[in-house]
Amino acid sequence: MQTDYVDSYYSRTRATDVEYAPLQGMIEADVCVIGGGIAGLSTAWELTQRGLSVVVLEKNRLAWGASGRNGGILGAGFAGPDSGLERAGPKAARALYDLSREGVRTVIENTTNLNLKGVDPVAGRISVSRYPDAKGMQDSIRTTAEKFDHHKEYLSTEKLRELVNSDRFFDGYFDPESYHIHPLNYCKGLAHHIVQTGGQVFEHSAMISMDHTGAEKHTHTAQGCVKSKYVVMCGSGYGGPEFGKTYNSLLPIATYVISTKNLGGRLDGLMNTKAAVGDTRLSCDYFRVTPTGELLWGGGMSGLAKSPANLAELMKNRVLEVFPQLADVEVDVAWTGLMGYSRHKMPYVQEVAPNVWTATALGGHGLNTGPAIARVVAEAIAENGTRHELFAPFGLRWNGSVFGPIAADMICAASNFGHKLRERFMK
Ligand SMILES: Cc1cc2nc3c(=O)[nH]c(=O)nc-3n(C[C@H](O)[C@H](O)[C@H](O)COP(=O)(O)OP(=O)(O)OC[C@H]3O[C@@H](n4cnc5c(N)ncnc54)[C@H](O)[C@@H]3O)c2cc1C
Repeated sequence: MQTDYVDSYYSRTRATDVEYAPLQGMIEADVCVIGGGIAGLSTAWELTQRGLSVVVLEKNRLAWGASGRNGGILGAGFAGPDSGLERAGPKAARALYDLSREGVRTVIENTTNLNLKGVDPVAGRISVSRYPDAKGMQDSIRTTAEKFDHHKEYLSTEKLRELVNSDRFFDGYFDPESYHIHPLNYCKGLAHHIVQTGGQVFEHSAMISMDHTGAEKHTHTAQGCVKSKYVVMCGSGYGGPEFGKTYNSLLPIATYVISTKNLGGRLDGLMNTKAAVGDTRLSCDYFRVTPTGELLWGGGMSGLAKSPANLAELMKNRVLEVFPQLADVEVDVAWTGLMGYSRHKMPYVQEVAPNVWTATALGGHGLNTGPAIARVVAEAIAENGTRHELFAPFGLRWNGSVFGPIAADMICAASNFGHKLRERFMK
């Protein structure tokens, strides 16, 4: 079993490498959180803030999964389109969107208030279209402003190319409420404060079985057991059948990132912005210059969770489509991560049995939604809060077994093909 961090820009630049011992023996706590990604750690943090005793069990290292490998882009919204929120009704759609913005603010506030090292938030995100789409962009800006009071600035082709100098891009908008961060440093920093506040964190401690039928829940690892009143399951795309029904409701989708060697002044004139940039495709490209001067580039999706052997080369081709001037730039490191998706693309926030919660399926938008759902679950457990009810229309849905990944892969391929046609014929 692989238990240390994958080689990535983030693991190479982690601010601390405190390692937590595996669980040994029987311990007791109010809440046992299973999975130490951003969902699990945020849940543990929110619970300790409300005075509950918490244990976090992590199979590998903290934020070893998607939370320590992602693009680092922190912005409002959920993994699916904003229009999907309407299923909850207009009032709840607004409340859900507000919650997603609260998730963004939570990360920034925690980073500042807890003085988390090496998270280095940089404000701003530019969204770009790869074909002329002034109307589409302006409509999207208007809708978000009218429905959610979230204001973004339209960028004409000329203005956009002053910021991101690529003839691949046509129209865009600037979102001042988004950021990019170092997600692994955020998670590891938060874990330190969970422990400082009395929480207990165990790495190399996979949950292998659960007995959650009685009032006292028993969660077993190879060498220990946690007895608790509540359980919160946050295993996401790296969880297995040990999670029961939640596992059968998740689609693990692979996606990819590279970072280059430090580019010094090579990006001057190409990226005249510190903001993150992302295009509007489902399987989009997103990129940013790190505070230390590397180009970090993410993109691509595989419903079949493929991890190509020539990943660095494939990803570099994506960079060259946008910036052909970077042909001689070296990829320093390339890595793959798995996102846990639900079929409706909204997170699962559900009490699946008395006092047993699932808080997972953040898809490709977890840096804000993890902290957001963590707060509503903590409110429900500690304060009889009701905000989790906003997620009632988005309950656990069967993943389609072996057909689910094939269908997910076909959806990605069809969406890419549609975009390619638009790029070809709408120039
Ligand atoms: C390459 C990539 C790029 C992305 N880019 C962005 C981005 O720019 N912005 C954004 O908002 N989101 C992004 N995402 C999505 C985001 O990273 C995820 O939505 C989020 O990190 C999921 O957090 P999580 O805690 O639910 O899951 P994870 O981070 O995957 O954590 C789950 C944890 O549970 C542990 N676990 C599993 N089974 C067990 C068990 N039996 N016992 C104990 N522990 C267990 C795993 O080891 C893992 O550490 C990206 C994802 C990837 C993969």
